[in-house]
Order: sequence, then C-alpha cells, then structure tokens
Amino acid sequence: MIYFDNSATTKIDPLVVEAMLPYLYEEYGNPSSKYYSLATHAKDAVEVARAQVAKLFGCDSDEVSFTSGATESNNFILKGVLETFGGENPSLAVSKVEHSSVLEVTGYLEQRGTAVMYLNVDSYGRVNEAEFEAALELKPVLVSVQWGNNETGVLNDVHRMAKRCEERGILFHTDATQVVGKLKTAPLDRSVRFLSLSAHKLHGPKGIGAAIIRKDELGIKTKLSPLIHGGGQESNYRSGTLSVHNIVGFGKAAELALLRQEETTLRLQELEEYLRQKLAELFPDIIRFNGDVTYKIPGIVNVQFRGANNELLIKKLSDHYALSTGSACSSSKPSHVLESMGLSINEIRSSVRISLSHLNTVEEIDSFCAFLTGK
Ligand code: PMP
Repeated sequence: MIYFDNSATTKIDPLVVEAMLPYLYEEYGNPSSKYYSLATHAKDAVEVARAQVAKLFGCDSDEVSFTSGATESNNFILKGVLETFGGENPSLAVSKVEHSSVLEVTGYLEQRGTAVMYLNVDSYGRVNEAEFEAALELKPVLVSVQWGNNETGVLNDVHRMAKRCEERGILFHTDATQVVGKLKTAPLDRSVRFLSLSAHKLHGPKGIGAAIIRKDELGIKTKLSPLIHGGGQESNYRSGTLSVHNIVGFGKAAELALLRQEETTLRLQELEEYLRQKLAELFPDIIRFNGDVTYKIPGIVNVQFRGANNELLIKKLSDHYALSTGSACSSSKPSHVLESMGLSINEIRSSVRISLSHLNTVEEIDSFCAFLTGK
C-alpha cells in the first residue's frame, strides 16, 4: 500500500513507539499520585513531553494542556472562551472552511444564543480580508481561523490576523493541526491566544493532542471553563488521568518534528512539485488544481480530474494507493471547503486530495502516475 493520505493521519515513527513502550510496561504510575517513584517518573515524563510540545511554538510549558486531540481542543477552546468571556451577547467569528470540529461547535453555540459570523473565503480558500476586517468592527469575543486547510493546504496569515484582533481586544484561536511539523510554527506571537493540534498528524500516536492556552501580557494564566470536569488535572482545564504513554509519544513526535522541520518542508515541497508536474504533463486536458500553489502547506495537493467521479476513483485505486476525497471526518458529504471556494458540485465530485509525508518517495509518485495512465 502506498500511503498518500497523510492529512488524515500519519505513520507513527518507530522512535516514538520506542519512547512510549516503557510507559506501557514498567513505568505505569499515575502522574497525579504522590511521593513514590512510579508516580514521580510518570510526572517527570509528562513534563518533559510538555516542554517538547511547547518548543514547537516557542511558548512556555505551562501554556500546553494535553487533550485527546484537536477535536477536543477546538471544542474546549470555543465553548470555554464563549462561556467564560461571552457575557450577555456572546459572539464569535470563524471562517467557512474550518474543520467540522470547529463548525459543528459553532452550530451548537448558535443554537444556544451565540451570534456566529461565518467569514467567506476567496477562490483559493483563504479568508476574505474585507470580511475579516468587517467582522472585527462587530467586536466578537473570539475569532477562530485555521492556520492551514486540511483539504487544500491553503494558509492564512494567522499572525497578522491575531495581531489585528489583539489591537481590538478580541481573542484569537487557530487550528494548527495540519501545519505543525510541515512548516515553522515558532515563535508563536503572543497575540495567538489559543491553538489546537493533534499528535497523529506529526507521526505521533492517535488520541492525544494539545490546547495551547497563552498567558496574558502580564504572565497571568487565562481562565477557561473546562469541557471535562473532575480531578482538576491540567491546571483544571481538563480533568482525567493523563494518558502518559501517549503524552510521551506526542513529546517525542514533537521533538522529531522540530528537529526535521526544515528538511521536511523542503522534502514536501520537492515531492509536491514533482507530483504536480507529472500530473500536469500526463493529463493536461482534464486536470485542474484546487487552491493556491504558493502560500500553502507543502505536500497537500487537491486536484480535479474532470469527468471522473472521485469516490469511484479512490475506490478503484484503493488496493494499491490510499488517498481521499477530502477530510476523513466528513468524507461522506461533498466538501464544504471546495464549495466555499466557488467550485461547482461536478468539480467537487471530481476532486481528490493527495497528501504526502516526508516518508513518500518519487518512485511512489511514479508508480501512482503510471497506474493512473494504465501503464
Ligand atoms: N482540525 C483539522 C484541521 C484537522 O485536519 C483535523 C483532523 N482531520 C482535526 C482538527 C481533528 O483532529 P483529531 O481527529 O485528531 O481530533
């Protein structure tokens, strides 16, 4: 199987597995227990991992809270910020191309009285500048805009947006799930007050991620209503016994991602360029690339094969190649991302996402292209 669905998840790194194993076997203590070595070893390992994740963003360790992944982080941050800071007339702005773990939350909040502004995107899938500025005029409590899109890789200039929000006293959150490890994410400007990510997108284990919650300019921790109540772990942001082995694996994956980031970015750029050129050469009359080709996460290619049905195409390829029609989390519906970019239903139905990792090779791309041409 040649794996081209790295935006859905990535292959766990053997060094990550190696780092996790002791915490599944001999080091099984609960990090919230006290005094004895099994507990302190577990706690120490969690704190090492916290520092490793913090380093991805150049933020402080105590700004990292472990969650089950980006879905939970998005839920926690959006619901928590609105509940804590929403006041009498809660309002929020998000882009129309956010992941379902943001858009389903805004739908839920809307039903409970939050006014939600949905920002349109341009034909590349990037948040419309004028709409963003107009939304700020209405002073929402929070603006949430993804750093990079999971279907097209298209980037938003989140640092600039966060600074604009900060100037106006508006909190800013970004879903950075797809960007981490593929592009430089440190130093993260303090105006990005909240950030979500998942370990399994950077060759770490599934079921673990983090919510980055920045302290304010005075260094005071931001208070947020928790999503999960209980024993008060993770500074009372997220209760429940910590998944130590997963946290250790996440930390290792973060360390490796940071170590390899420049190399990974270049490698993905090269592979993407090679893939694009080959597809353009082989199918000049029927292919069209969706989204931007320059300001984007390298390695994510969204492409239309005019006249093809994307479901049938990926099914036909599925014995040998893993790729997708878009987000694994809403794979049965036509893409709301491509729709927001102005694509017709036929164009959406003929689009597939090929998402690469540093583990892919030119030979794999050659094999894929040869298969597509029937050679
Ligand atoms: N946000 C984005 C942009 C994603 O791509 C994903 C995963 N598809 C998520 C959030 C949710 O991540 P997880 O399923 O690990 O919670």
